[in-house]
Amino acid sequence: MDIRRRNTKTKQMIMTVLSDSSSALCYEDFEKQLSGTIDKATVYRILQGFCDDGKVHKISGNNGKTYYALCHHCNSGNHNDNHIHFQCIRCQTILCIDKQFSIPVLPPGYRMTDMHCLISGHCPDCFNEIADYEKK
Ligand SMILES: [Zn+2]
Ligand SMILES: [Zn+2]
Ligand SMILES: [Zn+2]
Repeated sequence: MDIRRRNTKTKQMIMTVLSDSSSALCYEDFEKQLSGTIDKATVYRILQGFCDDGKVHKISGNNGKTYYALCHHCNSGNHNDNHIHFQCIRCQTILCIDKQFSIPVLPPGYRMTDMHCLISGHCPDCFNEIADYEKK
């Protein structure tokens, strides 16, 4: 297989992992899903390419890790994912909360380029497990 075709295939594999997931993914998640078939530098390079193309956005988790999730209304060089993210403090899962949300009016002269808003808490699975544990 020539390099270009292999690149396309690698990109498709990463895109499939992203589209099959209901939550945002960090590098370790990709590594697990791709069972180490693609090296780390390539995974990051492809993810960065998707970000530049407006297909994927990055989320900084409160554990210091970077997560990636699919964009739904973005195009190349123009991200407009002004939505909130939720991170579970127990299993670390990050979810896009794709709901309309109004951005506060900034003081005069300030222009927004990006927004990061993260809510921490428990996902339903973790919440149920904690509730079960407390019953015992
Ligand atoms: Zn986006
Ligand atoms: Zn959880
Ligand atoms: Zn998101």
